[in-house]
Amino acid sequence: MKRIASFCVDHTTLMPGLYLSRQDGDVLTWDVRMKQPNRGQYLSPAAAHTLEHLFATYARNSKWSEHVVYVGPMGCLTGFYLLTSGLDKMQVLELVRESFAWMAAYDGPIPGASEKECGNYLMMDPIAARREAGEMLQVLNALGTEHPFTGEY
Ligand SMILES: [Zn+2]
Repeated sequence: MKRIASFCVDHTTLMPGLYLSRQDGDVLTWDVRMKQPNRGQYLSPAAAHTLEHLFATYARNSKWSEHVVYVGPMGCLTGFYLLTSGLDKMQVLELVRESFAWMAAYDGPIPGASEKECGNYLMMDPIAARREAGEMLQVLNALGTEHPFTGEY
């Protein structure tokens, strides 16, 4: 089998940032990389799950909602995938920044966290999720200077 494109990225040198990972026609795959790979610091499964519910909820309720194809956590627990269509990179940056600012301040019930709506609704950690979102917001606010913003793969 062929090695897929995302495995061809050198994960030993990746910094937290926002990366354009793939382009398939109009659909852009973004890596919202929150943690430096293989350095011992990862999202906890519960924090990643909580952020998944919040990020997807915000993105799909934002003014860009029609352009959000998919939001989901990386299995390696270092960030999120965001698939968009019909947005340019500055619009994606605005969407991601708004999402993380909202998540960093969010203090309400986690959307979709019920037995009927979710496959593991008790695995939530809103406190860790808020902290992680706040840390990533700082990264997003320093994009292009201290942290990479797209085109770095
Ligand atoms: Zn869930």
